[in-house]
Amino acid sequence: MNRDLNLKLLKEKKSIFDFIIIGGGSIGLGCALDASSRGYSVILLEKHDFCKGTSSRSTKLIHGGVRYLEKGQLGLVYEALKERTILKNNAPHLVKQVGFLIPVYNYLLKFYYFFGLKVYDFISGNLSFEKPQIVNNETAIKLVPNVNKNQLKGGVVFFDGQFDDSRMGIDIALTSDKNKALLFNYMSVESLIKENGKIKGVVVEDTLTKNNFSIKGCKIINATGVFSKSIMNMDSVNFKSIIRLSQGVHLVVDKKFLNGDIGILVPKTSDGRVLFAVPWLDHVILGTTDSLVNEPSIDPIPSNDEIDFILENTQKYMSIKPKRKDVKSIFVGLRPLVAKDLKSKSKDLSRKHRIIISEAGLVSVIGGKWTTYRKIAKMVIDKSIKNSELNFVKSVTANLKISDGLKNIDFSKDSLSKYFYLSKDLIVHYIKNEMAINLDDIMSRRSRCLFLNVKESVFIAPKVVKIMAQELSKNNEWEEEQLNKFYKLTKLYTI
Ligand SMILES: Cc1cc2nc3c(=O)[nH]c(=O)nc-3n(C[C@H](O)[C@H](O)[C@H](O)COP(=O)(O)OP(=O)(O)OC[C@H]3O[C@@H](n4cnc5c(N)ncnc54)[C@H](O)[C@@H]3O)c2cc1C
Repeated sequence: MNRDLNLKLLKEKKSIFDFIIIGGGSIGLGCALDASSRGYSVILLEKHDFCKGTSSRSTKLIHGGVRYLEKGQLGLVYEALKERTILKNNAPHLVKQVGFLIPVYNYLLKFYYFFGLKVYDFISGNLSFEKPQIVNNETAIKLVPNVNKNQLKGGVVFFDGQFDDSRMGIDIALTSDKNKALLFNYMSVESLIKENGKIKGVVVEDTLTKNNFSIKGCKIINATGVFSKSIMNMDSVNFKSIIRLSQGVHLVVDKKFLNGDIGILVPKTSDGRVLFAVPWLDHVILGTTDSLVNEPSIDPIPSNDEIDFILENTQKYMSIKPKRKDVKSIFVGLRPLVAKDLKSKSKDLSRKHRIIISEAGLVSVIGGKWTTYRKIAKMVIDKSIKNSELNFVKSVTANLKISDGLKNIDFSKDSLSKYFYLSKDLIVHYIKNEMAINLDDIMSRRSRCLFLNVKESVFIAPKVVKIMAQELSKNNEWEEEQLNKFYKLTKLYTI
């Protein structure tokens, strides 16, 4: 996947694209893969880097969502569990099984949770994941040595899927690239082109060169997540917002806070939600929260209340209790929630995705989960074709393998860090084959250093940027500018 080559191919292209996709998060990339693997011509335009938005900031679970089960949203759970199996089959290098212990301090609750998880397992209807089990104190402590043992009455263990979200995004991009989709990061859609009342293209700015140009297409898909409203407003000034934004914070701490390979599910927080301690890349993610915010931001900021909420609620279930000083990194994601109408209250906001086709033909897709990105993308492309002059070709993604971009990397070579794997070869690979352009692309989404440990990321950044400058033939001024930008960004990941 090479940006210069794609620019050349774009210049040479004589015909209009079948699909122009705006946004390079899970949904946009999923649409690019679905449409290109059906044989349609596709261009995807991402304003920042692929997965810079919500799609690198999830809780890293490929799951049905046990909490929706308690709310009786069986359809939502069933759909996601079915996708969980499909993703495990199509991306086995990324989607792995992870176990969770629900520690219990009351015998009645033990059977209540076990029954609920049996239903969860039954709905999934597959053999890809181990069955839930009731465990006694001894086993619970063996599985999660740092569980709070005071009054512990054992627990229930269940299994779900886990992944690296932005790595999955990059691998979907690489698979779309193999299917001849033209993908661009740092390409911002600034306005829509209308002809006879119908949208026929977009005006973009290449944010690296500041060049503006027009691209023509048959169907234009707005997959900009929490920014959907801004693209819908380019289409119609009459668009009334039914999108609300909810913020979720995650804290990353040392693996000693679980001290095993199994996570913890906190079944009821002080606000009645579930909270996870997820083992991830040799660290533990604690999260998440759910608070309404007013404006979308590409780099959302956590509040002190959200940080305290996560620490207080996880501390109850752990022997060594995580404190502020233990937090190695913080990352925050925004989810768009779709209201039924303009008067809807927050409790009526749906977690299900919505596809809205405007009179001018703009197809906007809002909401959903990473877990269901493939199914949502398939539905978006199906609906778009039906709403166009394009011939209908069936989706093939249910059985399409996602490429492993790191398959040929030698992970035994010397690393720049003792905390996570990052080598010169890997940095060069990210630049040459995965369109990494800025230091943040490498530190945050190709590798996950910034998401795991801010202090170590700041420490190794000068070495990384030096290697980048050599590979990209950049001068000292560029290095300094990259470092300054990156250091500023790291403040948002620090308590
Ligand atoms: C806190 C939190 C935890 C979550 N945890 C999970 C989980 O564990 N499992 C799960 O399945 N799901 C989870 N989700 C849901 C999942 O992360 C989202 O559904 C998914 O990432 C949304 O992808 P998206 O493509 O719609 O949006 P985004 O990833 O936000 O992508 C939209 C993209 O559009 C780009 N864009 C905006 N404007 C323009 C423009 N003018 N031109 C070009 N590009 C533009 C943005 O830069 C952005 O990259 C979680 C969500 C949150 C908020």
